[in-house]
Parts: sequence; C-alpha cells; structure tokens
Amino acid sequence: MALVTGASSGIGQGIAIRMAQEGAHMVVNYYSDEEGAQDTQKAIAQAGGKCLLVKADVSKEAEVEAMFAQAKKEFGTVDILVNNAGIQEDADFLEITLEQWEKVINTNLTGPFLCARAAAREFVKRGVKKKTSTAAGKIIFISSVHDIIPWGGRVNYTTSKGGVMMMMKTLAQELAPQKIRVNSISPGAIKTDINKDEWKTKEGREQMLSQIPYGRIGEPDDIAKVAVWLASDEADYVTGATLYVDGGMTLYPS
Ligand code: NAD
Repeated sequence: MALVTGASSGIGQGIAIRMAQEGAHMVVNYYSDEEGAQDTQKAIAQAGGKCLLVKADVSKEAEVEAMFAQAKKEFGTVDILVNNAGIQEDADFLEITLEQWEKVINTNLTGPFLCARAAAREFVKRGVKKKTSTAAGKIIFISSVHDIIPWGGRVNYTTSKGGVMMMMKTLAQELAPQKIRVNSISPGAIKTDINKDEWKTKEGREQMLSQIPYGRIGEPDDIAKVAVWLASDEADYVTGATLYVDGGMTLYPS
C-alpha cells in the first residue's frame, strides 16, 4: 500500500493514479479539496485499483497519526510514503510575516517530518516482507529544484525545500540498517495549481521556458513515472538520492 499526501491535485494526484495503475492499493490524503480527491479516487477505480480517501492536515501531529492508523486498519500495512503535499506563499524578505514563514515551514517541512516518522515506525515494526519487496519500506520526498537554487521572494519555500533535502539524507543514513530506502524527487517547473498563474499566461510560459533547456514545461506524469520507479525493487540500491526531474533546469546558474 502506498500513501500519497496532497493527492487531490497536481503531482500527488498523478503519482497516486500511476501507482494504482501499477497495482498498489492507495491512500489518498487531501487537505481541503474533497472534489479533487474524489477525482483521484475515480481515476484509481478506473485503473481497477483500491483507494481510501483520508482528510488530514499534514502539519498536525494528531491528524497524521490518525491518518496512518486509518490506513493500517483499511489495508493492514504501509509500504510506500510519498511526502508530496506542499504550498507556496510568496513574500519579499523585508515584508514577510512570521505567519507566512510558519505556514510554509509547517506544511512543507514539519508535515513531511511527521509523516516520515509515522511511516518509518510502521516499517521498522513490520520489517522486510520478503515475498513482496527487498526493502522494509520506502519514503519519497517531493522536494524542488529550489532545494539548491535560491529564489528571491520565497525564503519560506526555499528554506523548507532545502530542509527537506537534508531530512531525506539524514533519514536515508539513519534508516538504511532497517532496510528503509529514502529518496527525493526534485521537480523543475510542472504544470499544476501551485504555479498556474505563470503557465496559464503566454508571458509566464515564456519566462518558464527560458529556464528549461529541454524546451517544455513538465507534466505531473513526468514526476509520477519516476516515483513509480523509485518505489519499485528496480531501484533497490538507491537511497539518499535526489533526482532532479526538471528538463535540465538545474543546469543553468541561478
Ligand atoms: P498542487 O497545489 O496541485 O498540490 C499541492 C497539494 O498539497 C494540494 O493537493 C494541496 O491540497 C495539498 N496540501 C496543501 N497543504 C496541505 C496540508 N497542510 N495537508 C495536506 N495536504 C496539503 O501543486 P503541486 O505542484 O502538485 O505540488 C506538489 C508538490 O510538488 C509540492 O510539495 C510542491 O512544492 C512540489 N513542487 C512543485 C513544482 C511545480 O512546478 N508544480 C515544482 C517543484 C516542486
């Protein structure tokens, strides 16, 4: 079973659908967009998959614990966690409020911490299920190219993603003896709600494309395909890695 946070739209929705197409039972976490979560559920059903929708704010410890308990009750076990939920709230550094800082850090950094801890505890308790996998569990963080590329006006976002990268590496090292694989995918520009104000305008698209050597803006499925691979036994020797799935965006100096 795979649990994807923030799976009612965009990249999380794409990953949940693709993982279901590959045969995983899915837990689709959503925050407020119930309609979007139901769309994900429909697409999973069309793929012949099983799915549980769970409303939870990933930044709230009690809600995360309750979500994992519900997932376990429904499917008996958790094999894969995709820490995808994330937000952006732009503000110049001289103007940013503590509230704008905390909102993004709580969702993008504390949320993945709470979910990773809940998942890792489950993985360790259960150990390696030799018949179905070579690892005891897998955690995938959806970070961003902005875990290494600075981005003025978004110190809350870049700091959260830089933190996610170091959390991933630390967990990969600490949990490797328990046979838990931990990796990140760092997307470049992907067409989703988070950046719709940019890619929906001609000017915005041109600005985005000027930073992408490969010459196209990414789609959620570009990330989903890589997530499926990372979660599979094909990637059994991969841990502590960040895969930049960005059409070459990180090749340019910032
Ligand atoms: P999106 O806005 O479509 O998806 C974000 C999801 O997170 C939404 O479904 C939202 O409801 C959910 N969410 C927000 N706060 C939550 C909370 N407290 N608890 C649970 N869920 C919550 O945008 P997206 O682009 O699909 O974003 C997914 C991830 O990809 C984010 O972490 C984002 O930072 C990252 N990312 C996106 C891009 C891009 O270009 N789209 C690039 C780099 C990284």
